[in-house]
Amino acid sequence: MYTKAEVLALVEDKGIEFIRIEFLDYAGVTRGRTIRPASLRDAMEKGVNFSAAIMSFDIFDEYIPDPMYKAGDGDFFAVPDPSTFAIVPYRKNTARMLCDLVDINGDPWIGCPRNALKRLLAEVESLLGGTLNMAYEQEAYLLKEENGKLVPADNSHCFSTDGVDIQEEFIQEFIYSLEAMNVKTEQISSEYGPGQLEINLRYQPALKATDDQVTFQHLFKQIARKQGFVGTLMPKPFDHLAGSGLHVHMSLYNEAGENLFSDITDQRGLDLSEKAYHFIGGLLQHGRSLIAIGAPSINSYKRMRPGTWAPAHICYGAGNRSVLVRIPEKRRARRFEFRGADGTCNPYLLSACLVAAGLAGIQNGIHPGEPANDDVSWLTETEMKERGISRAPRTLEEAMDSLSQDTILARAIGREIWEEFIKVKRTEWDKYARQVGEWERNLFARRF
Ligand code: GLU
Ligand code: MG
Ligand code: MG
Repeated sequence: MYTKAEVLALVEDKGIEFIRIEFLDYAGVTRGRTIRPASLRDAMEKGVNFSAAIMSFDIFDEYIPDPMYKAGDGDFFAVPDPSTFAIVPYRKNTARMLCDLVDINGDPWIGCPRNALKRLLAEVESLLGGTLNMAYEQEAYLLKEENGKLVPADNSHCFSTDGVDIQEEFIQEFIYSLEAMNVKTEQISSEYGPGQLEINLRYQPALKATDDQVTFQHLFKQIARKQGFVGTLMPKPFDHLAGSGLHVHMSLYNEAGENLFSDITDQRGLDLSEKAYHFIGGLLQHGRSLIAIGAPSINSYKRMRPGTWAPAHICYGAGNRSVLVRIPEKRRARRFEFRGADGTCNPYLLSACLVAAGLAGIQNGIHPGEPANDDVSWLTETEMKERGISRAPRTLEEAMDSLSQDTILARAIGREIWEEFIKVKRTEWDKYARQVGEWERNLFARRF
């Protein structure tokens, strides 16, 4: 946690020559510029300008039709937050800072996702009397190129130590790099898919946890590239192999160190407090639109299919991996895990919306009903109705239809971001929906 003065001193002492200043657009892509040390003081005081229109690129790097911010709509200013200063370990004399976006008057810019999160976290503190902690848990594949095709980098099995051994060189450089950038890690495992890894970050206050996830996303790709791999957070790189999820654990602690989500007198035996139930109630009520924010790509919905351990239903349960909100076993600290996101999201928007949905649950006393103790993947429509369980969106388009009805999330992140995000993502869907690929042509052209 550095101050401005400490950052300036560090840049001089460590001989830093290049400082990358970064933020994320609505499509979840990291953007920014590199500045030289002589411009750093000015950047931290006034910010570095960018055209507001760049927030409205889609993942194809094209302007969406009818963007809110057009070429003539002026600039916002990216102000690097000194507390995020980190020396980039894989480049010479380079540092990185994450930014808040401000307007021409230096006020928080209405279109800034990181600021939306900060605003909501301040609300949590004052309304709930505690700090919300989060731990991000990303799954990702290491791929290699073989005969012009991307394939898994190895043949490891789930939780096999062999898998960790095979990729030891990558794993160690990645972990040391994260730690050099002030991101603490807890566990590393070989995941279900061949070449798939999971790295659990240590829980932190929500803003720091979210910044850490941004660092993770960038670093995973860079270290992989450096070692000759393609590192990908793509949710479903292969139709027949496990998808890569992004799970977010949440807990609430007061200053005395008490866990406000825990209550051992809980009648259901889950050791959850009333606050925790209501928070979960909010996550489920806004479940479909949270998935729209957390799993915002055409590819996301190829991961979230029944029978895959990725959630396809809106419900919660203890020790159950087919649900949207999982309560980990009681031997661990009381918290819960949102399983409906993946590495294509903008983590600031995800954290902000999780907080907003949970808060709405608490403020409106929404109860999540009974937990699901079984694999809900194959419930019939009737069983789902009886138990009050609904399907998660099946496509990006369905997800956006839900988000466009969610006025609570709109108010939480601000109508401007909400509207623009939906436009960016509908553009992605429209471009996808027009595609006719080999698989489809081979099937239809011969039969009809
Ligand atoms: N790979 C699964 C997902 O996409 C999760 C597996 C697990 O529970 O670790 O969410
Ligand atoms: Mg996992
Ligand atoms: Mg998990």
